Amino acid sequence: AKRSGKSNCLFYTIQMKEELLARNNIETVLREALKNDGFKLVYQPYMSSQTGEAAGYEALIRLKNHNIPPSVFIPVAEECGLIINIGRYVTYEAVSQLRKWKQQGYEPKPISLNFSCKQLKDTQYVECLKKILKDNEIEPEYIEIEITESILLEKAESTMDFLYNLKNMGIKIALDDFGTGFSSLNYLTYIPMNKVKLDKSLIDKFFELNNLSAVENIISLAHSLNFQITAEGIEELKQYESLRNIDCDYFQGYYFSKPLEVIEIEKIYFNKQE
Ligand code: C2E
Ligand code: CA
Ligand code: CA
Ligand code: CA
Repeated sequence: AKRSGKSNCLFYTIQMKEELLARNNIETVLREALKNDGFKLVYQPYMSSQTGEAAGYEALIRLKNHNIPPSVFIPVAEECGLIINIGRYVTYEAVSQLRKWKQQGYEPKPISLNFSCKQLKDTQYVECLKKILKDNEIEPEYIEIEITESILLEKAESTMDFLYNLKNMGIKIALDDFGTGFSSLNYLTYIPMNKVKLDKSLIDKFFELNNLSAVENIISLAHSLNFQITAEGIEELKQYESLRNIDCDYFQGYYFSKPLEVIEIEKIYFNKQE
């Protein structure tokens, strides 16, 4: 028993060491990318049920030179604190993109940015965002910040301050990934918000059960509180049609478009002339 205990211990040590190595490697990649322009943003449109057209775009970060997805590197960035600089990069890059589109004469549409709860540590974020908007002559209504419920588990008071500061300066706030984790409709009543994004897993579950009445209830409650609703992860026409029938406002998913490079967005959604 003693021996097997020892080898178990050795086994775990090796496994932990490998995980640590992988994590350290990712951290190195992230540091390098921040220094040498190694990140880029791709944009996934969300469609309006009213017009059937793109109403705005969600910015999603990518590493230019590595096949490591954000679901892997964002948690590492959160753990080692690099998320703060990454968050600033994303903000700067998206607002610069809005300026370029504006200068090229395109009708501006809002961009949504994902905001990690670990970015609350960036106490200068709101000031930084204000300055970036001013420098680029972009109105705050063109930026939406996507938060998740986990932000509400952080120090409650500074979180509310942060959210109200954004609201007061005219930034839109969306609650992302609704239906995962703790999801309580309670949150909807006390955080300042413009939009709720229903997570793909929730949508999929209701279609699997062939029962949309719960989604219908969430949508009507959200509407009564003056929020709009986006359904995420729409992959089939059937999903789009049934959710449109129960008054969902926006739709996002591979059925409409994957996240696209800037040049593809311009070609497909702006009818850019070559
Ligand atoms: P998220 O914010 O929930 O973003 C939606 C994810 O679902 C994106 O993955 C998107 O490409 C994917 N997706 C969109 N439509 C569909 C669909 O119809 N089917 C399926 N199966 N997937 C779909 P992505 O880009 O890999 O991002 C994963 C997560 O990484 C994001 O989840 C977000 O939490 C995080 N993330 C991405 N970019 C950023 C960023 O700039 N900052 C922060 N803090 N987090 C980011
Ligand atoms: Ca998001
Ligand atoms: Ca989401
Ligand atoms: Ca998600």
